[in-house]
Parts: sequence; structure tokens; C-alpha cells
Amino acid sequence: MAKRRIHLNIRGIVQGVGFRPFLHRLTERYALSGWVRNTSAGVELELEGEDIRLEQFVSALQSEQPPLAVIVGVERTDLPASAGYEGFRILESEVLAHRQALVSPDVSTCPDCLKELYDTADRRYRYPFLNCTNCGPRFTIIRDMPYDRPRTSMGSFPMCEPCEAEYGNIADRRYHAQPTCCPDCGPALHWVSGAGERCNDAPLEAAKSALRRGEIVAIKGLGGFHLACLPESEIVSKLRRRKHRDEKPFALMCADMDAARKLCEISPEEEALLTGWRRPIVLLRKKAAVPAGISDNRELGLMLPYTPLHYLLMEDFPALIMTSANLSDDPVIIDNDQAVARLQGIADGFLLHNRDITTRCDDSLLRVFRGKDYPIRRSRGYAPQPLILDRPVAAILACGAEQKASFCISRGDQIFPAQHIGDLKNIATLTHYEDQITHFEELFDIRPQALVCDLHPDYLSTRYAQERARRDDLPLLQVQHHHAHMVSCMADNGLEGECIGLIWDGTGYGSDGTVWGGECLVGDAREFRRVGSLRPIPLPGGDLCTKDIGRVTQSLLWDTGLPMAEDAAMLRRQLEAGLNCPVSSGMGRLFDGVYALLTGRTRVTYEGQGAILLEAMAEETNLRLPTVFYEEDGVLRLDHRALTAALLEGKKNGIPAGELAAAFMDALIVAGVTQCRHARERTGCDRVVLSGGVFQNMYLLPRLLDALQADGFTPYHHSRVSANDEGIALGQLVIADALLRKEAP
Ligand code: ZN
Ligand code: ZN
Ligand code: FE
Repeated sequence: MAKRRIHLNIRGIVQGVGFRPFLHRLTERYALSGWVRNTSAGVELELEGEDIRLEQFVSALQSEQPPLAVIVGVERTDLPASAGYEGFRILESEVLAHRQALVSPDVSTCPDCLKELYDTADRRYRYPFLNCTNCGPRFTIIRDMPYDRPRTSMGSFPMCEPCEAEYGNIADRRYHAQPTCCPDCGPALHWVSGAGERCNDAPLEAAKSALRRGEIVAIKGLGGFHLACLPESEIVSKLRRRKHRDEKPFALMCADMDAARKLCEISPEEEALLTGWRRPIVLLRKKAAVPAGISDNRELGLMLPYTPLHYLLMEDFPALIMTSANLSDDPVIIDNDQAVARLQGIADGFLLHNRDITTRCDDSLLRVFRGKDYPIRRSRGYAPQPLILDRPVAAILACGAEQKASFCISRGDQIFPAQHIGDLKNIATLTHYEDQITHFEELFDIRPQALVCDLHPDYLSTRYAQERARRDDLPLLQVQHHHAHMVSCMADNGLEGECIGLIWDGTGYGSDGTVWGGECLVGDAREFRRVGSLRPIPLPGGDLCTKDIGRVTQSLLWDTGLPMAEDAAMLRRQLEAGLNCPVSSGMGRLFDGVYALLTGRTRVTYEGQGAILLEAMAEETNLRLPTVFYEEDGVLRLDHRALTAALLEGKKNGIPAGELAAAFMDALIVAGVTQCRHARERTGCDRVVLSGGVFQNMYLLPRLLDALQADGFTPYHHSRVSANDEGIALGQLVIADALLRKEAP
């Protein structure tokens, strides 16, 4: 039999996912000898053996890879057989100058570890930090690459002998599991009472009794602290008072699927997402059994336990409120001392432990739409997995938007979207944003060649990009907000070339300096034209209108020439004089104005609430409202005055508000299709991407997709990044890459 030797370089998520034990099993199966080592690029190995066995190994490598591994590329070199290796050896990791390795997201507790957790005979029985090669903390404990224990926050816990033995045994599930530990050598829980007294004795029991008493408990989790409490109306309103969170819905952690089913309708696809290893919060249709005060709309966010600590905690509760522990818009707290100091008066007790969280990472928030993920917040369990392209792009840092800030950074054929960051207008969040940019650049060894940001001159991400460009002498590109949304959805779907984009959101800085947000664009990754929009709405008081939504209603009435509210004399004068009345074609503002018109509720407590509640109240109807357009400089504008008049008329005639809400959205669907037709007539293009925060509306999205399809269009929606501003950085990056390549000789 012919003997041969091969050298393989494997790129991808192949560290900390049980890859080397997997390779070891394969080499035994095919009687191969040689060695393997982790490199900063992935895994490198050399094997010697029979020709046919080597080929079998290479094909098994692809077809049988461990569930958490992602192989991005295999580079193979054939060598003469002469090394004379004996057995299979694991060599020390090599630190290369150019790092190419990927970092695994955090992984929820695996079935094997769960079995041990409840096995009275196991030495890790009821140990809240057990993990193995197939599960446990990753991104949130890693400081640097390559992924080895000393470069994680487990570095301060030297392994005991039995743990060391498992770690070194290639047949063991914990072989080279960097964060592996046990009650003798690993982290431990402790309890701190509201009065600041520390207690190491039965901390879990202390937390459980506090929760049972109706108290609010801060719990250190994987990527940050949670505030937990019983999901009972009175306790929830106490939490709202203390957290100054008036109405924004809270998410729940459920003990298991049975408990989850008591609260929400759950489809098989939604169950798969809930029980999968990423464990995001999934938005589900809530049932009547949900106590009042948790969610003011038709949906509720649920998640299942994802750490051993959560499993132990949830033994005593079918469901608990679990919300990020932060003050107003601050980033979620990750540090013990900060938690105790800053949550005074909010939490009645603290369930803490001594394993540091090195990287903040909030719970992800998704829904399932037509069998696929529809991300709203892509964070824990997803970050920092890259999107893999089929071609290389330049090394670019895309700085994102502002309120739902995130960023993307690229290397070769990989684009790394950051985790959820938050609102940059908060100074601590801005610091977190800058720190994470530095962290990603170091972790993935990327030195950006260019920066890209929004066109908005006052976004703090724009300011960051401008300063950085000056400091590092880098080219900076500025990209129009809705163009970035559009290209983000194109990249999400792997589309190149020309597309129509229906981009509906709250606000974005337009190319003409006014506020946009109900746009129909035509273009590609380099340029775009605006072909459709809304009739601009004057917003008296500007930003005041996002919460004081009654102002928008009055503006719509004024614009339509209808009587305004009696107490709106001041607003009328302001509108007539055009004083501090920036105009906006934002779809989100139109939703707010219509919601306040239909319900009489003129104030909301969080941005977008009007649109969410309008969606929640919609009831199918045969009522059709008029859609009127006018053309201005080639832009087909929806004239909302006809809608405002018809809605007011319907209200006077006693048509239920729920039917009017639905009829309003139906009219927008007609308007969207009409604008896309207008675009198709001019370009011949029939692909339509839908992006922008308004497409989190689940009344609108499916009906618009169907209407476009029925009209001969091929419509696309997001499934890998969010339709809201969190997804913008991806579009910015792809646009910057296209423009840089265009300029290149
Ligand atoms: Zn495990
Ligand atoms: Zn141990
Ligand atoms: Fe936007």
C-alpha cells in the first residue's frame, strides 16, 4: 500500500469547539499518525498514512465536523511520506504574526453537562459553572487570541488534578476545554444582601427565597447582569418604578418548554430557536395567561436557561422576569462592585460569582419569520461570528448609526458584526463602543484601511469616525442612511447589482439635509437614486415629536387643512411660522401621528411605541383607504393628507380604531407596491429589498412581501442582521468596499 503525507491548514471556528479530539478520533479510525496544533489562523496538522485512508480522512473532516465548528477553508499540501511519525500528537499553540482565527460565541449548556448537573454521583453535581468542549462561556471570557485558558478570565483558576487529567485526556469530553473547572478549582457563587452583607453559605438558596418573597435580585450572568423577579403584576410595577422603565416590555426566562407554552403560542421553528445552542430571547405571540404589565403588545420575549446557574435557579420557578441590569441607557453592568454600588435601591440582593466577564454581551432578540431568523438584536450566541462572503473585501471599519449603535469590521472574506452596543448619546455606551472597536481590531488582528460612517454630521459614530480618520490618517467615507439600510439587506441576501429598496424607518439624515425615512430607492452598492417618498411632515419641536406624538397628529391635521385640537393654538402658530419645524419623510413619524389620531393617546414612553401599539391593535378589514401620489423632481410622493382625512372621517363614522389601523397599513402596502412599480418602469429592475425599523412590524412585512410577489417582483427581507439601525454598519461596509474598488486603478 502506498504511503503518503499531507499538511492541512484549516481555517474557521475550529478552536474551543472540540475540534482536536474530533481529529484525534478520525486519525485513530483511519490509522494515521502525525500532529496537530492550534494556530492564530485556525488549526494546522500533518498526517502520514495510507493513500486511501488519507482521502477518507479529508472527506470525513468535512462531513462529520463537530456541531459548533465552522470550517471556512482547508488548504492542503501533499508531501512525500518520510517523517515516520508515531501516533498522533498535539503540539503547543503557535502565535502567528497574522491572526486569522475565529472566536466562538458563548454556547448554552450541552445535554451531557446537564446530565452531570443533576447526577448525584458526579463530582460536579449541582455545580453552577460546569462546562465542556461542547458548551460554556467563550466570547464573554476571552481577552486575547489564540484561545487558551491563560488568555481568558479562567486564567486565575488553576485546574485541580482531576480536572487537569480530563483536560489532557483526548478521549474525554473536556479534552482541551479551556474554561473547564469543578467545585474544587473553579469559580463560586456568593450572595450579597441589599444591606451589603456578604454570605458564602447557600447563596443560591438566598437568591431563591428573596425571589419568592417578591424581591428583585441582580444575577451575574454570562455577558452581563440581569435583574430578576417573579412575573407578577405588582412586583413588575415595582421593578418598573425602580428602573424608571415605564412601559417597555420585559423578557422572561422560562424553566422549560412546558412553562413557555403556558405563556405563548410556539411554532416548531420557534421551539427550535428557543432550544438551540444560541438561546436568544424569541418574540412570541402571548397568551391570555400573561400577567398585566409585562408587555403592552401582542408579543412577549421568552428565553430558556443557558447556563448551569440558570438551570439551578429555574428549578423553583416556571418563569422569571429577566431584564438587563442597567440604569436607563447605560450599558449592562458586568462587574460585581459596580452592580452592588449602582443597583442600590433597585436590587434587593445580589447573586454574584468570581469569574470575570471580559466582554459585555446582551441577550440576543429575534423572531422567527417564515421559517428563518429575523434578528432585532444580534448579540450573545451570535457575536462574534462573521458573515462569510464569497469574495474578499478590504479591511474596513464601518461605524454604524447612533441610537441602535453597532459596528462591522472586515478581514478577507469575513465581516464581523459587533454585538449589541446601545445608544451612543449615553457617555458610558460611547466608551463601550470605542472599547469594543479596539477589542475587535486586536482580537481579529485587523488594521482598517478605511473608515465609513453615516452622513449625519451629529451622530457620535460620525464624530468617532472623523476623529479616528484624522488620528490614523485614514480615508473616511460617509454613506447616506437609507442607502446603507438598502445595501445591508442586499448583503444579507447575497445580492449584487441593481435593486429597488423600500426603506422605511423613523429618521435618517437625507442627502438633501432633511430628515428621510419613508423612501423608495434604486441603486447598487455604489450609488442610488431616490424614486419614491412620503410627503414631508413638519415636526413642531423636532425631536420632541418622538415621545410627544400628539404633535405629529396636529401637524398632519394642519397640513390636511382640518381643524386642530382646541389647545393646539401654539402649535398652529409654530407650524404657520415654520419655527423649529424640521420636515421629515420618516415613516415612523407617520405611524406615531396616525396612532395618536386613532387612539387619542398623545404621549408614548419609548421610541417606536406608537408604531408597535398600532400594529397590536390592527384588526383585518375590507375597508380601503385612498392612496394619492404626486410627483416632484422624479420622486413619487405618497400624499398622506388623503389618508389623514379618510381616517378622521372613519373615526367620526364609528369605524373601530383597530380596523382603521389595519386599513392605514393596507394603504401603505398599496403605496409601497405603487412606488416599486414606478421604479421598475424606469429601470426594469424587479428585485426589492425591505429594510428599516418599520419592517419589524409583523402586520406589514408579510403582506407587503406577498403583494410585491403578486405584482411580479422578487422581494427580499433580512435574516442575518437586523432591519433596524443595528444592521446599518453592514451596508456601510459593503458600500465603502465597492467605492474603494471603483477608485482603485
Ligand atoms: Zn457541555
Ligand atoms: Zn477541578
Ligand atoms: Fe434607520
